[in-house]
Amino acid sequence: MKGLDAVKRAVEDAGVKIITCVPGYPITETADAVGAEISVNEKVALEIALGASATGAQAMVLTKQLGMNLLADPLVISATHTIGSGLVVLVGDDIGPKGSQAEMDSRAFGPLAELPVLDPRDPAALYASIIEAYQVSESLRIPAIVRVTPRLLSATGADVSPVPSRGSGQEYERISWNLTVKGRHQRHHREVLPSAEAASEATPLNRVLISPEAKTGIIASGFPASLAEGLGASILAVAYAHPLPWKLIRSFIDDHSRVLVAEEPEPFIESQLRMEPKVRGKLSGRLPLGLLERSDLVRALGSLENEPETRPRISEAGSSYESIAGRGYTGICDDCPFMPLYRALAKVDAPVAGDAGCAIRATREPYESVDLVYGLGSAVGVASGFRRRGIAVIGDFGLAHSGLQGLINAAWRKQEVYVVLLKNGVAAMTGGQEAPDLTRLVEALAPTSYISLPAPESEIEKALRAGLERPGVSVLVVEGRCARADAGRGD
Ligand code: SF4
Repeated sequence: MKGLDAVKRAVEDAGVKIITCVPGYPITETADAVGAEISVNEKVALEIALGASATGAQAMVLTKQLGMNLLADPLVISATHTIGSGLVVLVGDDIGPKGSQAEMDSRAFGPLAELPVLDPRDPAALYASIIEAYQVSESLRIPAIVRVTPRLLSATGADVSPVPSRGSGQEYERISWNLTVKGRHQRHHREVLPSAEAASEATPLNRVLISPEAKTGIIASGFPASLAEGLGASILAVAYAHPLPWKLIRSFIDDHSRVLVAEEPEPFIESQLRMEPKVRGKLSGRLPLGLLERSDLVRALGSLENEPETRPRISEAGSSYESIAGRGYTGICDDCPFMPLYRALAKVDAPVAGDAGCAIRATREPYESVDLVYGLGSAVGVASGFRRRGIAVIGDFGLAHSGLQGLINAAWRKQEVYVVLLKNGVAAMTGGQEAPDLTRLVEALAPTSYISLPAPESEIEKALRAGLERPGVSVLVVEGRCARADAGRGD
């Protein structure tokens, strides 16, 4: 069974009724497999799930790691607000990023939101973790987070015995409104977190493999636990990255003379054990930051007795930064209809803010026509802050995701910004999913003109120069059909 199949079966066996998502690597394929409904952004995806949970339906949200930043607001509030039926946020961390603007460790949302985070090691554990996450979520009336990674989703493992665990259909109860915000937080600490801690200690998903002769132990979280097997060391594979099973960890450390912490991408657990002199890992330079390979563990075990290095290693090579030249990058497709626009943008003298759609591909040679990309939907807000008149380049999915708020703000605050909306009707970077047509809304907010592609580069350049002369907020809608939209990019 592959990791992706494990998610599908767990969703069926848990009786999940509502599944929402925002596509993005590495969860796009999984979201398709479970029939998730696309939302404009992750915050809305979680809000829909919260509403479903409140009215008795088990719900799931699928998001990539960067989406956690957007849904953090209702997530943090939901912990002490309480929910109805079970709700699981399945987050895909793009480790050693292939399709993301930042490498992030979503396990950090555990302590931030004070919610449980399960970090399964293989497909069977992934299935069981989702089932357990629903049980914990429903019994404690809080969302639970399950973290997956690309290698876990594509890994093949043993089949599982189904553990059907249908939800009770419980609805939200108004108990939390009797308490102040402080009182809810106090209740969360006194009643909820101890139960989550007990679940973390007692779950059969913790795996302890003791090698009788081994003086070295490996504490592992997530997929690296699979890499740690057969290396001669004892293993403690924790099921919960938060809250951690501290009693188990204490006893495991006491039973070994040296302990290596295998986790990715960040030293999330190791940093909590930093004052423990036996513990080594990424912080002590024994393992590289980011993605781990089995060879990294072998090398680390061989040097564990040495004095600790003082700094984390950034890579296997130890000193060089991964470069675009070395790795290569995906540029604008050769048959992209928007190519003349990117060429024209490079000719006008104005700062250009893009968003995390295909515009990000125009940041480098041969175009170098987009200067800044601070994330999906960010272009209009960023360009509004330019101290000289600049351009925001945003796709129609980016506009729906969160860019519209930037446009509303620009119109409201009477800012100086020229917006170029790439209207192709799809989220091109993530597989050609449908994007809503918001041009009527845009027209209501700002003077709007249109260019349909194909059009000569000179005509687009002329329109850009005219737009930059126009005071206030205005929008140029550039309409074209993504050449990959019908085939689907799938990244
Ligand atoms: S995916 Fe579509 S919109 Fe993006 S660069 Fe390629 S053709 Fe253009």
